[in-house]
Amino acid sequence: GNRTLTMIKPNAVANNHIGGIIAMIEAGGFKVVAMKKMKLSPELAGKFYEVHKERPFYDELCEFMSSGPIIPMILEKENAVADYRELIGSTDPAEAAEGTIRKKYAKSKGENAVHGSDSDENAALESAFFFSETERF
Ligand code: ATP
Repeated sequence: GNRTLTMIKPNAVANNHIGGIIAMIEAGGFKVVAMKKMKLSPELAGKFYEVHKERPFYDELCEFMSSGPIIPMILEKENAVADYRELIGSTDPAEAAEGTIRKKYAKSKGENAVHGSDSDENAALESAFFFSETERF
């Protein structure tokens, strides 16, 4: 697949890292094909992260993801899902490689600055979650 879905998470938006993160995304060879700013309700955050419903951090995650505005984006590049996960780095910033978005901007495992889809199938589902058909041409 050549597309993935990312969100700039509330901590990174609140700390004025939107521009820095998009600069790293574009320097990494990705094209921004859709973008918006919005605030998720706890219910919508819960729906987005439904696959993590049974994980111990689910409530904390939904609370955090609805705590302030986010920037969802659809990104395009060959091998987008895998290449983007490499660019963002490990979930835990302590383990994230030098030069990754999370190394630079994540605060913790939870407040880790960005999301990146983990499969082509989820990239398509997550893109449809945030963007209508006319917004993701
Ligand atoms: P993402 O799907 O957001 O790209 P990921 O695939 O790196 O993240 P997952 O294990 O799928 O990580 O967890 C999904 C999200 O849940 C993480 O991005 C993070 O915000 C949150 N999370 C994961 N582990 C923890 C934890 N131990 N404590 C708090 N939040 C966590």
